Amino acid sequence: AGSRDDQGALFSVEAEGPFAGVVFNRPLDQVFSYAIPKRLRGSVKVGQRVRVPLGRANQPITGYVVWIEPSAAVDPGKVKDVLEVLDDPPLIDGVMLELTRWMAGYYACSWGQALDAVVPAGVKKQAGTRIATCLIVPDEVRLCRDTWTLPSRQAEILELLCKAVGTLTVTDVCRLAKCTTAPIASLRRRGLIHTVRRRMSRAPVVKPSDPTVPEDDHDGKAPVALTSEQSDVLDRLAPSLAGDAFATFLLHGVTGSGKTEVYLSAIERVVARGKEAIVLVPEISLTPQTIRRFRRRFDRVAVLHSHLSDAERHRHWRAIASGEVQVVVGARSAIFAPARKLGLIVIDEEHESTFKQETTPRYHARDVAVKRAQLEKLPVILGSATPALETWANADRGRYTRLTLGRRVAERPMPRVDIIDMRREKPSKGQPAHALGGLMRRAMAEALDDNGQVILLLNRRGFHTFILCPKCGCVLKCGACDVALTHHKERHTALCHTCDAEYPPPDRCPSCSCNTLHYGGIGTERLEREVREAFPNHVVRRMDSDTMRSPGAYEQVLAAFRARQVHILLGTQMIAKGLDFPDVTLVGVVNADTSLHLPDFRAAERTFQLVAQVAGRTGRGERPGRVLVQTYAPDAPAISYAARHDYLGFVAQELPERKKHHYPPFGRVVRLIARGPIEADVVAFLDSFAGVLRGLADPGVLLLGPAPAPVMKIKHLFRYHLQLRAPTAPPLQALLRAALPLADPPHPIELAVDVDPVSL
Ligand code: ADP
Ligand code: ZN
Repeated sequence: AGSRDDQGALFSVEAEGPFAGVVFNRPLDQVFSYAIPKRLRGSVKVGQRVRVPLGRANQPITGYVVWIEPSAAVDPGKVKDVLEVLDDPPLIDGVMLELTRWMAGYYACSWGQALDAVVPAGVKKQAGTRIATCLIVPDEVRLCRDTWTLPSRQAEILELLCKAVGTLTVTDVCRLAKCTTAPIASLRRRGLIHTVRRRMSRAPVVKPSDPTVPEDDHDGKAPVALTSEQSDVLDRLAPSLAGDAFATFLLHGVTGSGKTEVYLSAIERVVARGKEAIVLVPEISLTPQTIRRFRRRFDRVAVLHSHLSDAERHRHWRAIASGEVQVVVGARSAIFAPARKLGLIVIDEEHESTFKQETTPRYHARDVAVKRAQLEKLPVILGSATPALETWANADRGRYTRLTLGRRVAERPMPRVDIIDMRREKPSKGQPAHALGGLMRRAMAEALDDNGQVILLLNRRGFHTFILCPKCGCVLKCGACDVALTHHKERHTALCHTCDAEYPPPDRCPSCSCNTLHYGGIGTERLEREVREAFPNHVVRRMDSDTMRSPGAYEQVLAAFRARQVHILLGTQMIAKGLDFPDVTLVGVVNADTSLHLPDFRAAERTFQLVAQVAGRTGRGERPGRVLVQTYAPDAPAISYAARHDYLGFVAQELPERKKHHYPPFGRVVRLIARGPIEADVVAFLDSFAGVLRGLADPGVLLLGPAPAPVMKIKHLFRYHLQLRAPTAPPLQALLRAALPLADPPHPIELAVDVDPVSL
């Protein structure tokens, strides 16, 4: 039960008929019927992309075949023909059709938009492939080839072609058999071989047993002996790993408790049954270190990350689809990996907001994973030291099974965390503000003297974080966005972090022309300078999206840090997650408040998570670790609970706050965002649409707005939003279904729907 074929039957992947139902990557909530012309009968299949004419102009457009039907949904006289089939075999199977149909309903997008998100661009473009003329040996020749008496050269080539099953071109044969084209031509004249046009990979043929792994990564490290807590957890998972039933587990394990070991052991069990696993990790944690851990334990690991070229991604995708891969490790979109014998899904750091896609379809990979597991009848493990409150509540409600790793492995203690009240560390008059207070500097000196390594977190890149005119009070903003500019000294620019526009750093205020501009605030670039000055005898490296631009930079810095050639590693949240270095004895949070005051109901949760995660980067080896947290809000619960490693305490404090305002997990939120170039038009449209929504909404639905979005202008487009809230999802879904078809924003205004938004 639960195999692909059963699921496929739901959508009659094998169905035949004269008409195809086709959907498009456009906001069209409809399946269009097309006739399959005689010449294409039998070659149009469900899950393929096809070219078809659309609209009055009959513009050819690419769509996805979602079903084959015996009769058309429109007047058979008016139905248009399918023009061309783009993929063979089909890209999409029955489970993915079902999953995307669910996504379309849940995330209020069209089925075609959801389908288009499932297939990587490189696959759609068939990147890294070419059409080649290949030589094939017909079956009747292959089966009785011994009966032919041929010149030895030709016999040799015939043998080669029989083995190559139609994958070699004339050039390939000449190279492999070290021959000219003459014997090949003779074989063709004799009718023993002929040619076929087929799509081939440009990449050199990879060993089928090992599609993606460089040789030297197999160092055959044996699995560790599990701790008693780890094996208890594995025992609880065991029945699901051995069976074919849907189940969701929340693995709540403190940092360093060995969650990854649990994933590896769980995957081993399903792989031993001939099944495959998908592991999602946040893009940021897709480090060589993480990948190595999986490759040590499994022979055939495919990694889907953003640095792959289209051709590589296509190759990996094909390898997965053909069953050559045991484990797929990847970021958000890897949840759509075409594994056909899936047995387990793991979401590591399930609380991470990067699992949410911020363009249509705005899906959350964790929630899609749970749905996919339900459709394919398999277990899913959501792991985190700081689970999202939604996930926690689902465990409380009994929907997810909670498993706990409460202690670090090897009796390692959790690090001691001290909060430093920065209000008392004010710089003396006339001195420039420092990023590091006296306590932090002393602790760093001690750790370094003691041969330890230091990690410093500051979640703001750039040198100065704002440019202000003290005369007229204006903050310098991007010309295209309602966003303050950040001064990047190394790049000599004032940079917009939203649209990447660069401006020369001004020395005069653009509004009042005075020349007393104040550059203020501390970003990672400025922190780096301060640290270098304070610790001139130590090696410092900065890790943020400015220094990590070149491919491989990240790996280089981490390798140097591991080899202890770097003593102090500082950076943005890039360094907060997942890193496992045994000699880090001090973690410093330079400013814990960067995310605390954002106008978002999750601000406290995010701050708690960031502090708890970065604190988890120390005390992971023999030596105990220590954490110092600089803050101007030492009493904020998010910070004080994180300092005590008290997730349960934080939850107990935060949940009632959420409940009071009907925020998730005690209610659902949908955000509707309109954007357009003329502010008044955007407001007018959203005002009238709010009226439509109010008219249709059931009384349990709360409608807030229109209000300016937190970032009111991006790339010259003004943004306003509406918020819908209700205790449960169904009334919101019903409202969207009824209202969205009536929305009709006037050109060029666009309306985006964000169901379960992760930022407001
Ligand atoms: P988490 O993902 O919970 O932060 P990890 O799985 O990264 O924890 O484990 C933390 C460290 O402990 C790693 O260096 C890992 O190799 C080690 N470790 C995990 N399980 C065991 C075990 N059973 N015995 C010894 N070391 C272990
Ligand atoms: Zn901008």
